[in-house]
Amino acid sequence: MSASLLAGFLVLAAAGIEAAPLPVEEVAPGVFVHVGREEDFTPENRGGIANLGFVVGADAVAVIDTGGSALEGRDWLETVRSITDRPIRYVILTHVHPDHMLGSAPFTGGDAEFLGHALLPRAIAERGPSYLANMKVLLGPALAGTELPGIDVTVAVGAVRELDLGGRRLELRAWPTAHTDNDLTVRDRRTGTLFAGDLLFVGRLPVVDGSLVGWLEVLDELAALPAARVVPGHGPASAAWPDALAPERAYLEGLRVSVREALDRGLSLAQAVEAVPAPDPARWRLIEPNHGRNVVAAYTELEWE
Ligand SMILES: [Zn+2]
Repeated sequence: MSASLLAGFLVLAAAGIEAAPLPVEEVAPGVFVHVGREEDFTPENRGGIANLGFVVGADAVAVIDTGGSALEGRDWLETVRSITDRPIRYVILTHVHPDHMLGSAPFTGGDAEFLGHALLPRAIAERGPSYLANMKVLLGPALAGTELPGIDVTVAVGAVRELDLGGRRLELRAWPTAHTDNDLTVRDRRTGTLFAGDLLFVGRLPVVDGSLVGWLEVLDELAALPAARVVPGHGPASAAWPDALAPERAYLEGLRVSVREALDRGLSLAQAVEAVPAPDPARWRLIEPNHGRNVVAAYTELEWE
């Protein structure tokens, strides 16, 4: 543990904020998921808005995403420890977004290897400092002790890396640019549980931070993976596979059609943001500002087609 992290924890300890396990659901034998809150970042939720998971093998544990702050990460580590005393050998980060990786500090300094997409280290270097600055504003003192993770092992795009937890193997796949340019999925072969990271949003409106066209292509390939259930990056602890992809695919396809229409009509970016219809609020939550941002991202991408 670094000096600054330790100092942060001492401040919090003095304030009487004790580590406490997060609620988890065992979605399949040995596969545990914590469901993030369907909220934007607040000091109260400490960045805890993404789903997090861990898989327990006979010899070792793999943690999949660490949360949105060191405080959430500390409680996440406590959660793992409340369920198993087997060593955490792997910490897998599904992508660069702060709600998935800023809880890493409490997992560093031990024997755990940090794994991610081949482009994750660059994304952390480029975006990490501004993420920390923004999250400082949004979370305030709840960001105490938060540090950017270092990545020990990367997975090349299109490659599959296997991890052996003892009697169960995980498959890590790095995808071409979709939700971001560094999306990684994890499949537990024994139970057919697929951790999709933010390649899958359920309930919370998807955010396009990579490529709309790329994401739709990745969804086709992703849907072909054999799995019994999927753990989305946002949404319920698990959902039926591949049916759970349908609403997201419909939203992204609708976005592509509407933005292409706006471009064909010669609308400006600002006009397109007004013209592209908002998604159904009965189906999606936290629609704005994300829908508007998605229109901007799609317009900027599709105008070069
Ligand atoms: Zn994300």
